[in-house]
Amino acid sequence: MPHRTDRVKLSPRDHLFALTGAGVSAESGLPTFRAANGLWRGYRVEEVATPEAFAADPALVWQFYSERRLRHQTVRPNPAHFALAELERGLGDRFFLCTQNVDSLHEQGGSQRVVHMHGHIRQSRCSSRRCSSRPFDDSNSYRTREEIPFCNACGALIRPHICWFGEVPFEMDLILHQLAGATVLLTVGTSGVVEPAASFVKMARRNGAKTIYVGPEEPSNSAFFDEVLSGKAGEVLPGLVRASGD
Ligand SMILES: [Zn+2]
Repeated sequence: MPHRTDRVKLSPRDHLFALTGAGVSAESGLPTFRAANGLWRGYRVEEVATPEAFAADPALVWQFYSERRLRHQTVRPNPAHFALAELERGLGDRFFLCTQNVDSLHEQGGSQRVVHMHGHIRQSRCSSRRCSSRPFDDSNSYRTREEIPFCNACGALIRPHICWFGEVPFEMDLILHQLAGATVLLTVGTSGVVEPAASFVKMARRNGAKTIYVGPEEPSNSAFFDEVLSGKAGEVLPGLVRASGD
């Protein structure tokens, strides 16, 4: 697929909704969720990233996330992260960044407002659904059952603040509200298979938004995009979107 060099021009009335996925973090050296055939110590990721897995063996689940926490400390943002931070600075409230990624790379790249729909690797929360305590910053590693802390409020085990398989992503009301008001959807580095994010492009189209994909591989839902810009996000994204008058 040829590299497109067109610039996306935004009018003062445009609202840009950016959705980023694992491909953006992969360009910083973070392995994608499905790398290594999706196996971790012989387990499928679906076997350690569920509420059922946590109930059965919380130490195993925490070992998985503790390894990921350590890995996340070693990576740095790439030009795609910087480009999105620049868009936010230029567009202000007319820019909304929603990421499927659980790392801090957008924030490290300078983004101020990032909605992490799948949670955050450096946060933990109470594992009880009935508990009203809030997620909190936590970069610790937990290897054994004895090391896992209990909730101060209710005494249940602490779990990673991650949206597991079978769970509803975070902040969906805000996300769908922003999606409804978007005139441009910019999707970067997501495979197009993980719902509900994979359906965002259909919703945006239904509202008449222009839809753009940026990433090294053609997404499985590419038919729904007005433009598919093939290439590394860090190479395609910088300078791609310009406000009118630039
Ligand atoms: Zn609790």
